[in-house]
Amino acid sequence: MKTKEAPRLPYISCPHCGTKAFARSAGKTTEVYREVYYHCRQLLACGHVFVVAMQVLRTVRVSACPNPAVQLPITHYARPANDDPLPAANDDQPPPSPPVTARMTD
Ligand SMILES: [Zn+2]
Repeated sequence: MKTKEAPRLPYISCPHCGTKAFARSAGKTTEVYREVYYHCRQLLACGHVFVVAMQVLRTVRVSACPNPAVQLPITHYARPANDDPLPAANDDQPPPSPPVTARMTD
């Protein structure tokens, strides 16, 4: 019987010595967030162990089986969320007037 292989994660360079570091175990995990423990390959010379956070930021193609508990902004490829300088197509109204501030009276 074949055992299930652990998923392979990309390597990342150790922030101290620059050597490749590899994922060893996963920590805190949710539907959109995961922490992975990385170990530097230079065990004796460096030995750095650090945590890398992986987070789902936005949707670029909607899911055919969406999870209602997961709400992500929808963007195009290579365009960050909330960075569109153009107004929305249905945003023809003038900007709202500033809020009226009440005076403090005795
Ligand atoms: Zn290192």
